[in-house]
Amino acid sequence: MSDCVFCKIVDGKIPSNKVYEDEKVLAFYDIEPKAPVHFLVVPKQHISGAGDINGQNSGIIAHIYEVIARVAGEMNLTSYRVVTNNGTDAGQTVFHLHSHVLAGRVLGGMA
Ligand code: AMP
Ligand code: ZN
Repeated sequence: MSDCVFCKIVDGKIPSNKVYEDEKVLAFYDIEPKAPVHFLVVPKQHISGAGDINGQNSGIIAHIYEVIARVAGEMNLTSYRVVTNNGTDAGQTVFHLHSHVLAGRVLGGMA
């Protein structure tokens, strides 16, 4: 998608601080970290958000969680939070599916 910031990062048109990459996903550090460790995992294919997951594309979700477990393990993270915001009212600002991975401090309760 030409006007999507994460598609531009995937295509290398916008630089990112990469954590992990394979043929299906890219992980990179969030530009405005909310915790000492804060990276994002995005599918290389443009999917607008969690609300666009269906029977055809849901395999990417399993893969994203596999990547999170692998990267978190490599970083020796035992506690971390995985967050996906869907929709403006939930705080989604980039409409390309992404999982936030937050760690490195006591994160407290949710919502
Ligand atoms: P959300 O608000 O859940 O849609 O999350 C979007 C996240 O993308 C925010 O935490 C932003 O800080 C992050 N972000 C936006 N642009 C960039 C960028 N160019 N590189 C890294 N992270 C970004
Ligand atoms: Zn995109």
